[in-house]
Amino acid sequence: MAVCRMCHKETSDVSIITCEGNTQVQYPDGTVLKPIPYDPKTFHFPNWYRCPDCNVAPGGKHHSNCDNEHCPKCGGQLISCDCF
Ligand SMILES: [Zn+2]
Ligand SMILES: [Zn+2]
Ligand SMILES: [Zn+2]
Repeated sequence: MAVCRMCHKETSDVSIITCEGNTQVQYPDGTVLKPIPYDPKTFHFPNWYRCPDCNVAPGGKHHSNCDNEHCPKCGGQLISCDCF
């Protein structure tokens, strides 16, 4: 149970397919990139499988602080990569 910082919705709500607040990723150097949508194939999950961390549907944008969101700049894990 958690409320997303970006869309202010409950992340366990299965009616949510994408985070509407996750529209861009801003870096400290001023770069702004589009967030990478959740793709179950990246994690070798079945193609209907929701994100195990933030519960968005395949093709949706992740909620805030999701472990499975990738950095559009370096391809690493967004919450722990060196871009920030
Ligand atoms: Zn996620
Ligand atoms: Zn959200
Ligand atoms: Zn990065």
